[in-house]
Amino acid sequence: MTRRDLSDYRGIVDPEILDELQDLGQRLRGKRIVHVNSTRLGGGVAEILYTLVPLSQSLGIETEWLVLEGDPPFFEATKAFHNQLQGEAVPLTPEMLSHYQRINEQNARRLDLSADVVIVHDPQPAALVTHRPKSALWLWRCHIDLSPKPPPALARGPQRSAWGFLKEYVERYDAAIFTMPRFAQGLPIPQHFVPPSIDPLSEKNRDLPPEEVAAICEELGVPSDRKVLVQVSRFDRFKDPIGVIRAYKLFRETYGRGHDACLVLAGGGATDDPEGKAVLREVEAHAEGCEDILILERPPTSHREINALQRRADVVLQRSTREGFGLVVTEALWKRRPVVAAPAGGITLQVLDGLTGFLAASDEEWADRLAYLLEHPDAGARMGEAGHKHVRQHFVTPRELRDYLRVIAEHLGV
Ligand code: UDP
Repeated sequence: MTRRDLSDYRGIVDPEILDELQDLGQRLRGKRIVHVNSTRLGGGVAEILYTLVPLSQSLGIETEWLVLEGDPPFFEATKAFHNQLQGEAVPLTPEMLSHYQRINEQNARRLDLSADVVIVHDPQPAALVTHRPKSALWLWRCHIDLSPKPPPALARGPQRSAWGFLKEYVERYDAAIFTMPRFAQGLPIPQHFVPPSIDPLSEKNRDLPPEEVAAICEELGVPSDRKVLVQVSRFDRFKDPIGVIRAYKLFRETYGRGHDACLVLAGGGATDDPEGKAVLREVEAHAEGCEDILILERPPTSHREINALQRRADVVLQRSTREGFGLVVTEALWKRRPVVAAPAGGITLQVLDGLTGFLAASDEEWADRLAYLLEHPDAGARMGEAGHKHVRQHFVTPRELRDYLRVIAEHLGV
């Protein structure tokens, strides 16, 4: 993890947020906060904790990031669980659920969870709560979209049976934190709403000189003489990479002449996601024979490359059918890129349709928006500028840390 200090964010973040953080830091000084998730590499939660934890430490709060350890059957079970919560009918057997409980029990013995505050991220480590002491504050932070009634045209609501199982654990926490009010659940504990954030200073988001962007993209084989459309995502069905290819092909058929474009799908895996390889193979099959579709499999440490690809993009795409938040969208907006995205979950907090990007549902809408943005780079630049301001105001790390510390201070009564 990189060291971070509040002063690093002066000039980037609203000074009121920094002042409030300083104050919260004083009120919580000496407390021990432990974050637990299920991977140190890959995916949005790891990306957030990588910065949020050192920034929290810099305030004088003893903050630690612990990672649940599991075996392949555990991650297969939790991925199935995750998929079912997001509305996909996948088999989830009683054996899988009892293995989930067993691994959580083992981790409860292995991890040092003695702290004033324990923040458990997502369903994988949620069952650790069974071993909680009453004296500490335990918060469950949910990064996924559990909303029971997704908007029409998107995926089905979470399978209530998976939620029924998870809810028994969640109810043992002192409070739950969701990304947005639309994700609220019928729970007997208090619920707070905190959107995620990106770190503008990280390797993923810091400014890169155009020559460096060009050199990295050349190395990756991205053509320098074409308009480039980019989706960056783990190879996961809910990110709908095949839907992106379909929409791109429709765009090409409908508007092809005059648009010398290419599509780049860049992604890697996460150590807690065992499905990546299979999805990647499906994507490759759909792109076969298309010399203008480039599939780049990158390790989850390729921050500079992803940074360069996002900066190189003429339009950034995110076609998720379910999305808790979508840090990749935040990253693109920060880089002033025009974005076309699906109106899924937390994406709608970020892409204000027609202002900071376009929300598009059907393939036809996607094709039209892509053509419009490629033909009107000035409109794209205006949206990119508005998107950058929106992220600066709402979705950078100090704001998220401030929101967590507010919740903690409220519960501890300090
Ligand atoms: N990411 C990456 N390499 C990849 C795919 C994703 O570095 O091949 C990063 C991406 O830049 C973002 C995070 O992983 O910071 C993904 O977060 P998001 O919220 O978009 O999706 P999640 O993977 O958590 O569902």
